[in-house]
Amino acid sequence: MNDMNGVAHPGAVDSADAPAGASGGYPRAQATIDLDALRSNVAALRAKAPGAAFMAVVKADAYGHGMVPCARAALEAGATWLGAATPEEALALRAAGLGGRVLCWLWNPGGPWRACVEADIDVTVSAHWALAEVVAAARAAGRTARVQLKIDAGLGRNGVQPDQWPDLVRAARTAERDGLIRVTGLWAHFSCADEPGHPSVARELAVFRRALDQAAAAGLTPEVRHMANSPGTLTLPESHFDLVRPGVAMYGISPVPQLGGPADFGLRPVMTLTARLASVKRVPGGHGVSYGHRYVTAGETTLALVPVGYADGVPRHASGTGPVLVAGRRRTVAGRVAMDQFVVDLGGDAAEPGDEAVLFGPGDRGEPTAEDWARACGTIAYEIVTRIGARVPRVHTGG
Ligand SMILES: *Cc1c(COP(=O)(O)O)cnc(C)c1O
Repeated sequence: MNDMNGVAHPGAVDSADAPAGASGGYPRAQATIDLDALRSNVAALRAKAPGAAFMAVVKADAYGHGMVPCARAALEAGATWLGAATPEEALALRAAGLGGRVLCWLWNPGGPWRACVEADIDVTVSAHWALAEVVAAARAAGRTARVQLKIDAGLGRNGVQPDQWPDLVRAARTAERDGLIRVTGLWAHFSCADEPGHPSVARELAVFRRALDQAAAAGLTPEVRHMANSPGTLTLPESHFDLVRPGVAMYGISPVPQLGGPADFGLRPVMTLTARLASVKRVPGGHGVSYGHRYVTAGETTLALVPVGYADGVPRHASGTGPVLVAGRRRTVAGRVAMDQFVVDLGGDAAEPGDEAVLFGPGDRGEPTAEDWARACGTIAYEIVTRIGARVPRVHTGG
């Protein structure tokens, strides 16, 4: 029924089963995932970095789009690497039978190092304790671990501090000589690549270049050196090195909204979130709507009930501001978003239970985009798509 293997959304269905599955009509809500758009986004991004290998970042269930189908589509479109945050995500990719190189980077002590080594996953080391754990795992497995070293070039998050880098590099080289690890990559992550002209970009590139020199001097010969996320891939050719690691742009969301929307970068949004109206009814003027009565009808009107709420990932911050296409027009969430549902005021317009409400999509039909939701809720479009809940089936098309 689905091919998501353990990371599946409970309601995931094949496109063949949608929209009217034998098990009872159109789903309450669904996220339609356009894999043709995803493939074309990969092609557009690869064209921006023609000399670099392409790592498709599919962490967090492919930013909410369904990890395995998206990873497969990205590989079909020319990605040769898959990027995961956690080792569990990386292992799930392998469990689903996906080939290609897989890198993961977010470890804590006691993580599944040995399982990753045995599954041929490239693991990231950001500290001495992590090197010790992967070396022990390699020894236990009787295999050479593929290791990438990460420096904190200025983001202030994970990665070894520059003053600790020469030490880590030396220790890694020693383990490499002992046949326990092979250092396949060196990498860093930008802090402000999405802010055009930000002075940190040049500073962090300089820190990274220096780290590469120090690693070379210590005798390391990595296959790939990499730093570029989506904004780097699209706007900073000097950050491409041997490999680029785009995430959000692959899903058709602009990583630098101040420079343009998806179409300006040759991208197309991949996710469309729809729901079927659960109720349409006439109410008199002065009628309060949803918890707290933060919305009160101005006169006699029609209220439509959209059966998705914050449990499905619709932000409660969208109360009174979220945009949605219903009955041919853009409306605004009336009153509070509840756990499972919200209401829109259709004014004098007609609709029927079962009619489609489009929360966001590519925008061609006049529907809002994830970026519109992000603006309405004071967040970024990354969060809008990634937070769509497990209760919403992902239906993959173009597969
Ligand atoms: C999430 C992530 C990416 C992708 O970032 P986007 O801004 O979505 O392109 C790349 N590299 C690392 C280390 C990440 O955590």
